[in-house]
Amino acid sequence: MKIAIAGAGVAGSYLGFMLQKEGHDVTIFESSKQETHWAVCAWGASRNILEKFSKDVGLNFNEYIFHVGKKLRMELPNNKEEYLELIGLVTYNKQKWEHDLLKDLTVNYNFKCSSNFPFMDYDYVLDCTGLHRSLLPKSTTDFIIPAYEYLIENPDKTSNDNEFYVIGYKGARGYFWYFPIDKGRAFVGAGDIDRKYYGIKEFFHNNPSAKIIKKIGRPIRLAPPKRMEPFFNKNVIGVGESIGCVFPMLGEGIIPSLLCCEIFLNVFDKSKNFDFKLYRNLVLKKFNYYDDVYKIVRLKMEGKLSTIKHFPLMMKMYSSMKKDEKRFGFEINLDKMNRLVNAL
Ligand SMILES: Cc1cc2nc3c(=O)[nH]c(=O)nc-3n(C[C@H](O)[C@H](O)[C@H](O)COP(=O)(O)OP(=O)(O)OC[C@H]3O[C@@H](n4cnc5c(N)ncnc54)[C@H](O)[C@@H]3O)c2cc1C
Repeated sequence: MKIAIAGAGVAGSYLGFMLQKEGHDVTIFESSKQETHWAVCAWGASRNILEKFSKDVGLNFNEYIFHVGKKLRMELPNNKEEYLELIGLVTYNKQKWEHDLLKDLTVNYNFKCSSNFPFMDYDYVLDCTGLHRSLLPKSTTDFIIPAYEYLIENPDKTSNDNEFYVIGYKGARGYFWYFPIDKGRAFVGAGDIDRKYYGIKEFFHNNPSAKIIKKIGRPIRLAPPKRMEPFFNKNVIGVGESIGCVFPMLGEGIIPSLLCCEIFLNVFDKSKNFDFKLYRNLVLKKFNYYDDVYKIVRLKMEGKLSTIKHFPLMMKMYSSMKKDEKRFGFEINLDKMNRLVNAL
């Protein structure tokens, strides 16, 4: 089949590789120029799952790992700290991972897909444009959070133990992150609905030797698939963040996007004519609990979360996350979760 993929991010590069491997005629269209194409992200995810996806495309994930986390330190608004045991959370070279997959693919860089795209030249067009969702109708229930980050090097070793570190904002309105990568480099950034980005200025104040290499910014989608319909329009099919495959509590979308690719490929392999209904149902089923998590995040943001009234919803979130512990790469602990929800 002749397939166009809009967007060469995690979903576009993985799908491009897999579909070409299966014998399809694939062309990727990417809005950035080749020289400046950057995997916008803090490059943190669970190795437990990325090892499998890397194997699918013939890559050895160990060669991409930058930092293997042991503990994540979390600063909370009540001046308390919480530590999460890490069971697979790493940072990895996401840029190289994606670019290695694109090497043998036809990629038209500097090509911004829009409604003028020659849709009818292809059997299917995949919208893998992430946040932009450039080829699908807008969703009326979309929700995005502003975010930006710096790639830095040489943070002050005395004020920093070079481990995963986050600061949770009151009302779950966002968080600051410090994600170590390699050679004294790290991502320092924040997502914040109020655009105050507490922690970034403070980080540079406490780390005068930190040198900024790059400033990267774009919002992150928090609305889950249930709120990001339609997933398709004529021969266009959305995969990844474009249809809300991002974990709403963390703005974490690498693994959710790949899980969405997996669903797409399973449905695509089944018959000559893509079963749109089956794809929709499977995506909604897989990411069903993301909607519970999203509800909790929004209630918290609006100051309406009641630990009594919303107890069943919170327990549902806990048990779904506990089942998926390996996929998160950090311990899911009920006491800690309760303390976090109360502190935020
Ligand atoms: C600052 C920041 C930090 C993050 N950190 C993490 C993290 O540590 N871990 C994690 O799991 N997730 C993180 N995320 C979320 C994660 O990066 C995304 O959810 C994930 O990359 C989505 O994958 P995707 O393939 O759907 O879209 P993307 O990876 O965003 O790829 C979309 C591609 O489409 C291209 N594009 C956009 N519009 C067009 C168009 N009109 N035509 C052609 N091409 C187009 C873009 O240039 C891009 O290359 C972060 C996001 C941000 C913004």
